[in-house]
Amino acid sequence: MNNIKNIAILGSTGSIGTQTLDIIDEHPERFRASVLTAARNWELLAAQARKFMPDKVVIAREEFLPQLKEALADVPVKVEAGDNAIAEATAIPEVDTVVTAMVGYSGLIPTVKAIEANKTIALANKETLVVAGEIITSLLKKSGARIIPVDSEHSAIFQCLVGEDRKNVAKIILTASGGPFRTKTLAELEQVTVDDALRHPNWNMGAKVTIDSASMMNKGFEMIEARWLFDCPPEKIEIAVHPQSIVHSMVEYIDGSIKAQLGVPDMHIPIRYALSYPERITSVREPLKLSQYSNLTFEAPDMNRFPLLSFAFEAIAAGGNMPCILNAANEVAVAAFLNRKIRFMDIPRLVEKVMKETPFISSVTLEDLVATNTEARSRAKSLIKH
Ligand code: MG
Repeated sequence: MNNIKNIAILGSTGSIGTQTLDIIDEHPERFRASVLTAARNWELLAAQARKFMPDKVVIAREEFLPQLKEALADVPVKVEAGDNAIAEATAIPEVDTVVTAMVGYSGLIPTVKAIEANKTIALANKETLVVAGEIITSLLKKSGARIIPVDSEHSAIFQCLVGEDRKNVAKIILTASGGPFRTKTLAELEQVTVDDALRHPNWNMGAKVTIDSASMMNKGFEMIEARWLFDCPPEKIEIAVHPQSIVHSMVEYIDGSIKAQLGVPDMHIPIRYALSYPERITSVREPLKLSQYSNLTFEAPDMNRFPLLSFAFEAIAAGGNMPCILNAANEVAVAAFLNRKIRFMDIPRLVEKVMKETPFISSVTLEDLVATNTEARSRAKSLIKH
């Protein structure tokens, strides 16, 4: 019997993707990279293909297909391009687990395809559940697919729930580092730069999620992600700012017990668990030394200084296409901030405007969400222009 899990990594050249390949490299007796995809970094994708010899690689941006093909001309790896090829790659029969590690809205359609193909999904793309949580949840019920969270907080919650009856959950306590601007005043937040925002105190991540962490949009998205992953109403999700990032989240039960999962802030841990679940496998990395942390602190978040967090609660309360509008506006705003076209506190201003101005649909189909995404983006872009 062949016990090796075949892994498709969507977004293999990003932060989560490369760390997933580290785990595959540590455990070749258990895992094999069978599909690797990237948005545009064809050079790293080609290097990964040479090392891991997957069956197939796909580059999203078709203009890089000739370079990628030439770079892999002498190895037996299929080379394809385009968003459709990425979505189709998730449904290949040999693939056991799909790691969705691409950035933003682009994760939605491939995740839907992976669910329809009954795959195990190691979900690292939180925007999929933010945009389409209700649709994804109902698709999952009709399919043999399952989602194992990779996000460190959701992995922690998932681990705290193992062996428990869901009806005994009193609340979920989602921890947040607070990011690099945790102690900044509103006036100071108006002045922060891109470089300030990219300097996260604990986690080493991609640019988009690092900016979302600085604005606490990331925590708002994670609240929505938890709402769908664990079928937990938003009023039962409490956010605790925990600057040390050692407690990755907690679950409180009806008897007053709270279970927590702890570890060093290293994404290899939740990625490893998502790949090995329900088993645990060895790590080659340094574990947490609790004696180095004499001071673990927790405080309530400040929604005045971090308005995007309160917009996330408003969006999930409204439902329908509102979380999709929130996400689309934020993606455009973060890209504009990274390109130094707007300032940091323009991100929430822009998001609020787009949420007010984009037509609300209370009951949505996948097609509605695709249309909403396009509309909210173009609205956000034209607001930036003017
Ligand atoms: Mg997280």
